[in-house]
Amino acid sequence: MDELTETLKEMALTLGAFKVGIATTKTLAGGPPSADLSYVLPEAKSAICFALAFDQSLIDPYFKKEDHKSLDTNKVRTTTLSNGLAFEMAGFLQQLGYKAVPQAANFVYRMDSETGPEEMKPPISHKYLAVRSGVGYFGYSGQIITTEYGSAIALASVVTDAELVSTDPLPEEDNYCDGCKLCLKVCSSGFVDPVEKVTVTLGGKEFSYGKRRNYSRCGYVCGGMAGLNPSGKWSTWSPARFEIAEKEEDVPDLLNPDAQIPALQAYLERPIKGGFFLALSPGYRLEYTCSNCQLVCHPDKEVRKARYRMLKESGVVIQEPDGTRRAVSPEEAKEYLKAMPPERRKLYEEVTEE
Ligand code: SF4
Ligand code: SF4
Repeated sequence: MDELTETLKEMALTLGAFKVGIATTKTLAGGPPSADLSYVLPEAKSAICFALAFDQSLIDPYFKKEDHKSLDTNKVRTTTLSNGLAFEMAGFLQQLGYKAVPQAANFVYRMDSETGPEEMKPPISHKYLAVRSGVGYFGYSGQIITTEYGSAIALASVVTDAELVSTDPLPEEDNYCDGCKLCLKVCSSGFVDPVEKVTVTLGGKEFSYGKRRNYSRCGYVCGGMAGLNPSGKWSTWSPARFEIAEKEEDVPDLLNPDAQIPALQAYLERPIKGGFFLALSPGYRLEYTCSNCQLVCHPDKEVRKARYRMLKESGVVIQEPDGTRRAVSPEEAKEYLKAMPPERRKLYEEVTEE
């Protein structure tokens, strides 16, 4: 098994991953339900988990609001490539006589949850596999952070009945997350609690990260339904400026198909280019307008701070009738919206009848 383990690790690195680890049913024991490998393969013994990096050179132009498309495309294609690796490695194991199932990087959810895929529970959480097998650490954000590329990464896995040799978690003293919380400062949705943490135990080892609040918060902002930061001074790449709820009870339930959500209606009527295809999403499209928490986190704190500055100074995004987006000053954006006919303006903000 040593030889097969080494071959699979080398395969992942050769095909495009920069980091790979092996978790086993033993090292994941006692974890949350999405650390249970037998959910996807009853005979499972191990899982190979790997990380691919986004192109770091595209992050500054993204934060400065100079270029959305390049990073959007890179993120989509890196995610697709990670699925390809999982598929290829699973096929390799099957040809050797093992059972193996590829686990998609994202957008595939358990069908047997109480309300089906709407609960957005992944069959397997790559994050648990990644921290336990030494691919990366949990950052406060709840993202997996790596010493190589921060959290600007895609993760995927393969679950198999081959008894591979597990790899160890990374040493905690080398975890660069210093609790700077810049991942929270760049988040307009208030998704992660600034104080409370959660801890999971995997194979007798504990891992902690910031507690998540209502998942619809992130869906609302990262999915493009609202983009204006509560400060009014900068936005995500979304041209929409519907209100972002402060109180948990006011957060719109995006997973309720019967809920009437004006920001969602407007989203469906705006032109969308790029992004991901998601069966659950209305219109099947998932626009990526934020990912700020994932992209801001870099091992070098000065880089993190510089990225935050870029975002704060990047202005506010507006959308031309042909769908083009560009950043302008907050004042200019207000004037631009005010000059729109009400029917068009409703695509971007709440319009009260006078
Ligand atoms: S931005 Fe700061 S607090 Fe957040 S995960 Fe990265 S290092 Fe940790
Ligand atoms: S993707 Fe954006 S909205 Fe979602 S948690 Fe990260 S920063 Fe917040």
